[in-house]
Amino acid sequence: MSFTLHGIPVSRGIAIGRAYLIAAAALDVDHYLVEPDGIDNEIERFHAAQAQVHAELDALRDDLAADAPSEMGAFINVHSMILNDAMLVHETIDLVRTRRYNVEWALTEQLEILSRHFDDIEDEYLRERKADIQQVVERVLKALAGAPSTATLVVDGAATNGHNDMIVVAHDIAPADMLQFKTQAFKGFVTDLGGRTSHTAIVARSLGIPASVGVQQASTLIRQNDLIIVDGDHGIVIVDPAPIVLEEYSYRQSEKVLEQRKLQRLKFSPTQTLDGTKIDLCANIELPDDAKTALDAGAMGVGLFRSEFLFMNHKDELPEEEEQFEAYRRAIELMNGRPVTIRTIDVGADKPIDSMGSGDGYETAQNPALGLRAIRWSLSEPQMFMTQLRAILRASAFGRAKILIPMLAHAQEIDQTLDLIHEAKRQLDDAGIDYDRNVQIGAMIEIPAAAIAVRLFLKRLDFLSIGTNDLIQYTLAIDRADNAVAHLYDPLHPAVLHLIAFTLREAKAAGVPVSVCGEMAGDPTVTRLLLGMGLTEFSMHPSQLLVVKQEILRADLKALQKPVEDVLAAYEPAELLAALALLQKI
Ligand code: PEP
Ligand code: MG
Repeated sequence: MSFTLHGIPVSRGIAIGRAYLIAAAALDVDHYLVEPDGIDNEIERFHAAQAQVHAELDALRDDLAADAPSEMGAFINVHSMILNDAMLVHETIDLVRTRRYNVEWALTEQLEILSRHFDDIEDEYLRERKADIQQVVERVLKALAGAPSTATLVVDGAATNGHNDMIVVAHDIAPADMLQFKTQAFKGFVTDLGGRTSHTAIVARSLGIPASVGVQQASTLIRQNDLIIVDGDHGIVIVDPAPIVLEEYSYRQSEKVLEQRKLQRLKFSPTQTLDGTKIDLCANIELPDDAKTALDAGAMGVGLFRSEFLFMNHKDELPEEEEQFEAYRRAIELMNGRPVTIRTIDVGADKPIDSMGSGDGYETAQNPALGLRAIRWSLSEPQMFMTQLRAILRASAFGRAKILIPMLAHAQEIDQTLDLIHEAKRQLDDAGIDYDRNVQIGAMIEIPAAAIAVRLFLKRLDFLSIGTNDLIQYTLAIDRADNAVAHLYDPLHPAVLHLIAFTLREAKAAGVPVSVCGEMAGDPTVTRLLLGMGLTEFSMHPSQLLVVKQEILRADLKALQKPVEDVLAAYEPAELLAALALLQKI
């Protein structure tokens, strides 16, 4: 039966393919294909883990206090039975044998299948047994973690099992898990949760594949292998489409390919407005090798390297100075003399990392987005921060690096940060290690306080970069990753526009370079507005560079002045939208 779901469009384009459902537990396990001669060994691992969990359950039963409620013993017995149940054991082994899934993957896949059966059961008691199966599977996964597989990791195409039309459907995907998909060929993403500028959405965009988030219930309504269409322009997901709908979307898909091809022609033309003002277009990257995509798209530099992605998927410890140095150096060398703006680690909120333990009070924070995030966390971990600063400085000797500090608000935070950078330089001097002595230091303007008190920053720093994603989140007091308030996330709110315009004006008057690196920079519908406010440096996902460039090539800055003033003078939404529409017509 065909039906349509609505969510938030986060990555443009149309994907047509088969649903590949990922259970929450499945995201935490490795997915790889086992070599044919390793299958017996893989099944052996499963039996060993099963035996270990049996022993654990027996021990639990033996240790039950004499006065323990009788349900506890019954509960353990149910778990023992599940552990031997053919639906779990045989089917899991079957997935290992027939599809060559590693056992962790097979188990979570089978858990997903069983969970779906249980969701359909009317009887509440039976339906609740789903949680028991989940607990048993989690126990087996833990036992397996203690006995790592010797099978070789097959990354490319592993999760798709050779199919190349898979669309991931999940309840939620953490940014770190999205990273894994960089090496795997999925056609699109659909998640139940998420907001327009959640980091999951940002990584989806960087992969350049269509995605819709906040599609509530998607992961419960869509079945494994269903044919689905993801319309990433409108946030629509069509399940089991009628042939005529499928035909229409296939047509639209081919139109888009043509559009993209046409845009390619702009790649080598200089980026300037009709009146000859030169505009810099830079790229946002997450990993060093993304620099290749940036170059490919014609970026004149990296305006934002989100270094925290190097720190993700590092269980319990942070990467050493050497590993970080190599990563930064790689990006710098790939960019071949073009500037690479490395943002110091911005963890917290929707980007926790394993080593942010309870000691930081992070796990118990009521409002992590307002808590120990970004530079606040770095300053509370000076050793970690110094390691990163030394690694960036060392890499600066190999090209043009700039250092960008996230989430600053206070003068003393800026001063403390500058002192630490000074100290890192001193340590390198003492060790006789080379670095760029003129490396520029800049700040993200992403807290309203920083925009309003921007003079504190202009006095102390070499450049600024406006992070509109957080600036919007903090100005409007809405969590950017929370789909329940996603409708209130509004880049065109007058308060947001005034903060951006004010920052640009003040920076220009002080002669301090300023860019925009939030998602607004890559949105062609606001390119004219930003140009008219005086922006000359944009940093965005490489996939957006050419559409934005097209807007720039068609814009005349002088003609934009008055219509942009009208947009800024408008407070009523209807008035503002009308002024914006006029601006688009110039
Ligand atoms: C921003 O906040 O706009 C930004 C560019 O940084 P991030 O999205 O990584 O928070
Ligand atoms: Mg930010």
